[in-house]
Amino acid sequence: MTNWWRDVSCKLHLDYHEPHWMTGVAASFDLAEARRQARIFKEAGIGAVSYFTHDHHGFAFWPSKAGVNHPGLVNDYVGNMTTALAEEGIRRIAYFQLFTNIHIKQTHPEWLVVAPDGTNPPGAWMMYGASAVCASSPYLDEYIAPLLTELLTTYDIESFWFDGGAWMVDTLCHCNYCKEGFKRDTGLDLPASVPVRKRRHAPAAVFESRGKVDEFAIDWSISDDAGDSDPQWVAWRIWRRKQIGTFLARTIEVCKAARPDVLITDNSIGRSSTPVPAGGNGEPVRWLAPQEIGLDYLCNDALPWGGDFPVTFSAVGRNEATTGMPFDFHNIRFHKWGEWQLRDAEDMIVDSAATLAQGSSTYFADQPYPDGRIEPAVYEVIKEVNAFSRPITDQSVTTQAVPDIAVLASAPSQIFGPIGSGVNAARNTRGAVGLQGLGERTDRIDGAHLALTHSGVQFLIYDEPTLRQNLSRQKLVIVPEQCLLEEATIDALDAYVRDGGALIVTGRSGWWDQAYSNENAKRFDHILGVETLGAHPSPIHYVELSDELRELARVPVHPIMQWGAAANVRATSAEVLADLRGPLRAVWRDGIQDEDHWQHYTTLGACPPGEDIVGPAVTLNRHGKGLAIFVATDPFASHMHENRPHVQRFVQALMERAYPTAERLVSIAGLPPQVEVSVQRDEAATYVHLVGYAPLKRLGAMVHNAGVPTTTGGSVRLRHPTRPASVDEIHTGKPVDWSWTDGVLDISVPAFSTHAFLRVA
Ligand SMILES: [Zn+2]
Repeated sequence: MTNWWRDVSCKLHLDYHEPHWMTGVAASFDLAEARRQARIFKEAGIGAVSYFTHDHHGFAFWPSKAGVNHPGLVNDYVGNMTTALAEEGIRRIAYFQLFTNIHIKQTHPEWLVVAPDGTNPPGAWMMYGASAVCASSPYLDEYIAPLLTELLTTYDIESFWFDGGAWMVDTLCHCNYCKEGFKRDTGLDLPASVPVRKRRHAPAAVFESRGKVDEFAIDWSISDDAGDSDPQWVAWRIWRRKQIGTFLARTIEVCKAARPDVLITDNSIGRSSTPVPAGGNGEPVRWLAPQEIGLDYLCNDALPWGGDFPVTFSAVGRNEATTGMPFDFHNIRFHKWGEWQLRDAEDMIVDSAATLAQGSSTYFADQPYPDGRIEPAVYEVIKEVNAFSRPITDQSVTTQAVPDIAVLASAPSQIFGPIGSGVNAARNTRGAVGLQGLGERTDRIDGAHLALTHSGVQFLIYDEPTLRQNLSRQKLVIVPEQCLLEEATIDALDAYVRDGGALIVTGRSGWWDQAYSNENAKRFDHILGVETLGAHPSPIHYVELSDELRELARVPVHPIMQWGAAANVRATSAEVLADLRGPLRAVWRDGIQDEDHWQHYTTLGACPPGEDIVGPAVTLNRHGKGLAIFVATDPFASHMHENRPHVQRFVQALMERAYPTAERLVSIAGLPPQVEVSVQRDEAATYVHLVGYAPLKRLGAMVHNAGVPTTTGGSVRLRHPTRPASVDEIHTGKPVDWSWTDGVLDISVPAFSTHAFLRVA
């Protein structure tokens, strides 16, 4: 069986959720219209189309015998589309929504998710109650499986794109299937409710701001413990997330029984933020690498809604590229899902460049009107984007990312453990005043991504098993406060450093095992040359760099503020490169350093540097032939929110000590920090991508690139063991100036705006 996914470099998704009251669904979509659209797709360069078979209301878009048709469906949307695409030689991908359904309550109310209060909640994004179906119920076997078989035996469908699976299982459900299943598997009762983080409350102030009355309420704690380490809750979350693997295995089995060569994916499985465990229920817990789950390719819709797509695509792409599997992102023509605006081609080109630079393909997303028609103008924009991306995809479909610097994103650390300093761990506010609140566990990886992207380095983001397999290919490994780690990972990192590798570890990394138990803060001590004594009580600290590190970081003589927890360590064999200064002593009422005695100094919870150095902030240990740097705070999570240049350069200085620029696979000079670099390779050549980025000014999250300026005078320094025969820029097809000495290639980058694509052959 061949996996054709990687060979189709341009794909299209047609989003088509239709509410039950909508009439005339697909009314214009007879076979003639389907053929007309297929020709438009073909002309736009699209080689595969994903179209709706079963939407998030649970309606079928073909005359189904096994399911419930959309009440307003006029034409056989699935049949006409399948026929027309096949006639044009376009691959057929069926979109199928799994666990939301607005009509199953009439026939099988017992299959619905039951909230702890006994109500049936809506499925994600839905405005209808009683529409979330529980993955513990027989819904998949008794309702969905016959639909999948019917589709595959009726129509020439070559792939399934499943949705609504991965992110539906996080709901705490008290249905009878969950009660019995959880008890049977773990011996435990279901958690009574979702844990609530302990916070202190202050009275809310009501005031008028910008013409509206607002409430400034304060919930806060100096700890970022989410209060969810209770063994019953942890066991439930592992048990529930394990259902992702179970329902996917069953879905794959059903589909492949009907058509062995059908390719399967599930939306956003493979992202480090949606991990899937195995084991549990008395067996050791193991978190699966995406390539172990059984999917044929990885695909991600463009979330967060209206987010910064080039940044998200880069972060997820640098992770999924490590799996060796084909992976894609939806490049949406609208500004966010569920609307019909049209973006400019340049905006979509920046997204496309960010994706292609990681070795992915182009996957557009459009949304037809209810009657099935599409807007021709959309395909003019797609053609324009394709004119840009085609020269890249022609080259890049076979390339693989080249390892150099690794960031470790341990699967369980994305969903368990302390939340991370984020912004303002000291104080979380609701209302118009205050920063963004506590943040997410994934902030550390996103913050590390920003810090490294702005540093012009080649880096990839690995899960634990994949990193262990690829450790010998890494020159530097960064562990950005990954609190839960497998013993095997720490052992592998120990051997890696002793063998000459470089390691940077931050914060409370490895304080827990992969099942969020067996707390042991000392697991990295022998590698780091420190003795961990615990956590400092304060929610804010200041890093004072040694002169040498400060000069490397190019920061003034000024302490670098760090939000959040810090590890309290004592250097044993390590050298101290920076001191950690605590907040003013007076911030602790009665001199007692605990939650109850912390007093806020400023409204937002910051406090000036105090009188005491409380321990080392940065240490460096020679371990075997390698070195290990430890940072007692975690600079990465708050960097995700604040993007502070001082923190950026602090991280760069640490990397310089661990793995100097001169030794790296690639470095860039004379280019703005917004330009992102990526290095890919195939049998014939090495490729360097330079991706531009210039969002319009904005207040809020909706990011659009426009007028990306032309960059001139940049250079790329690439380690290349042999003297190359040629170096050219692929968009222009022109050779570029270069020189090569002793395994180092210096390339003069020609003028470019959104993307330069250098081929070294
Ligand atoms: Zn349930």
